Amino acid sequence: MTLSLTSPLASVSGVGAAGDRALRAAGLVTVGDLLWHLPHRYEDRSNPRRIASLTQADAMVTVGGRLVQVAERRSWKRRLHVVEAMVDDGSGSLPIVWFNQRYVASTLREGARVWLYGALKPARSGWGLQLVAPEWEIEDEDSEPIHLGRIVPMYRRLGRLSGRRVRTLVARALEGLGVVSDPLAPMVPGELGVPPLGDALRAVHFPEQPTAQVGSMEPFFNDLAHRLTPAHRRLAFEELLALALVLERERGRRRGQRVPACTIKDEVRESARRVLPFRLTEAQKRALAEIVADLQRPFPMARLLQGDVGSGKTIVAALSALVVLASGHQVALLAPTELLAQQHHTTLTGLLGTTPFLPELLIGSLPVAEKRRVQDSLADGSAHFVVGTHALIEDAVMFGRLGLAIIDEQHRFGVAQRQALLEKGEAPHLLVMTATPIPRSLALSLYGDLDVSVLDEMPPGRTPVRTAVRDDAARAKLVEFVRREVTEGGQAYWVFPLIEESDTISARSIATHVRAVRQALPGVRVEVVHGRTPAAEREATMAAFSAGEIGVLCATTVIEVGVDVPNASVMVIENAERFGLAQLHQLRGRVGRGRRQSFCALLVGPECSEDARRRLELLAATTDGFRIAEEDFRLRGPGEFTGLRQWGRPEFLVASLWLHRGELESARALAASAASHGGLDAIASALSCPAGVGPAVSIG
Ligand code: ADP
Ligand code: MG
Repeated sequence: MTLSLTSPLASVSGVGAAGDRALRAAGLVTVGDLLWHLPHRYEDRSNPRRIASLTQADAMVTVGGRLVQVAERRSWKRRLHVVEAMVDDGSGSLPIVWFNQRYVASTLREGARVWLYGALKPARSGWGLQLVAPEWEIEDEDSEPIHLGRIVPMYRRLGRLSGRRVRTLVARALEGLGVVSDPLAPMVPGELGVPPLGDALRAVHFPEQPTAQVGSMEPFFNDLAHRLTPAHRRLAFEELLALALVLERERGRRRGQRVPACTIKDEVRESARRVLPFRLTEAQKRALAEIVADLQRPFPMARLLQGDVGSGKTIVAALSALVVLASGHQVALLAPTELLAQQHHTTLTGLLGTTPFLPELLIGSLPVAEKRRVQDSLADGSAHFVVGTHALIEDAVMFGRLGLAIIDEQHRFGVAQRQALLEKGEAPHLLVMTATPIPRSLALSLYGDLDVSVLDEMPPGRTPVRTAVRDDAARAKLVEFVRREVTEGGQAYWVFPLIEESDTISARSIATHVRAVRQALPGVRVEVVHGRTPAAEREATMAAFSAGEIGVLCATTVIEVGVDVPNASVMVIENAERFGLAQLHQLRGRVGRGRRQSFCALLVGPECSEDARRRLELLAATTDGFRIAEEDFRLRGPGEFTGLRQWGRPEFLVASLWLHRGELESARALAASAASHGGLDAIASALSCPAGVGPAVSIG
């Protein structure tokens, strides 16, 4: 029977009832599902070596020959079951040994022709070499070997199925597969130079042997680079196209909505000028102009405001809010932590003091009565502006006429939360902000449903933070340095990875080490905030820190986002090796916000690896958020930015937003042009990847 990508897996020869059950349990139903399950790496088991030419111990080798001897014995001393065999390829013979693999003896018979792949070791006799516990496959006259004698794909376990079993099933599925039609082929841009679907699926599983003309197979043996072969890129392109489609549909849906446009009257300009505590940077002016233009259109804005830590996103958000407020609509600002919500509330109260639009605060830890009061005034429209946390998206919160939703530190929220906030209004404008500096092309593609404004300029008067990586030996000097800074009027953050000591994580905790900080700094007021500090206490502590009454603030990463105390000039980070580069960059962004020269000490624990230390040195050497983000992407992948899962679709199987940024660009361009002439459905029906098939998603 000829298989197609939609054939059930049960129709693949050799699957059997148990195999079918195991595949279903792993979520695979069709041949296409199995073939989209890619190897995570490859091993070169091609090029069998002549036994007579083998001289080097510890090398991995492939040999092919006839078994001339197979014997079992027990080794009582070492409590082992041993199978010993001898293989002869005509040039010579080589001993083989397997330990505790009884089935080897029951399957391999003298006289069988086999392929073997394993490590050559010095023989126990002390003379010559032997193959120890090699992988093996009995040669079959009628078909190519699967596990040996070629470039072999390596699979992760699939539920109860071993990687070797998966390989067998993939090979059987490909054997039975007929011609695969590729309706996407005419749409794939030629310049990508990728094969059609059927060829790509075959090549990613069982790549052809290299020929002199084709050149090196080297990329196949590199965990990441193999994903850049034309076959892999073809599949990645398709997955990225599935994402681009989702985003394009969302954009189209939004553009079909109607909002009452905002009008900019002279009074608004005047009150904006009054609230401004400083001159805007050129970048801030540009971003604000882009936002204001959006707000005057008849469909809702969806804009990402991206700017490195400290680039001044808050004031842009505040002025945007003012425009919407003055047009008679409500504005909500969502922040990821109570600490940040409280701080925004304080800042905005100060800024908007001369306007009728003082913000309310809505966070989970408010007394019930106060929460109720804020909720009521939002519902009846008497409150115009609200700043809050997740408490804002609870069901109990309703807005009379929400005109603009602002989400700060957007990467901390999922699409679902963003959607929940938008649903509080008819079709409100959306402004999301992030300090996570992702390369612009990536941002455009990734947040494909959003327009992007970038703050690529820092407010004046900043001096770059000086950063150093230090270990325990430098602790005494560091404490002395902090003491001097604080006595001279500066303030310091001291960040710990843990609140309390943990049995499983060896890292410093506030609970254990804050006393040491206090003892080392007599006369300096040292306070603590972390995620479990009660809200009122946290607010009081932050207010005192802002007012300069506290010298050293010991904290967890709750201060990572948004906290803004310009007088703070020292950031000490314990166990810096435990954090990602982007996160450290965010933490470091808490200092260097005022006129003082600021410093950041990255302390590493004794378990910090050479690699980790090198990463930290990179952070110390640059303050360029984009460089750091690229490095972070390279090392850890884009993490929370993988996109599809956020949209309720299966994750990428092969695509990497970083490795395949070229394919991402092409996919975006294709989807955008298809959208402009109503061709999205044609693309959707041409997709075969798991993320592309299935019911069309509807968002909101
Ligand atoms: P982020 O982009 O990280 O959210 P903030 O909005 O918190 O940055 O701004 C960082 C600091 O810079 C704040 O203290 C803010 O008042 C100040 N700031 C913002 N814009 C300007 C400007 N144009 N001139 C001077 N200071 C500014
Ligand atoms: Mg901010």
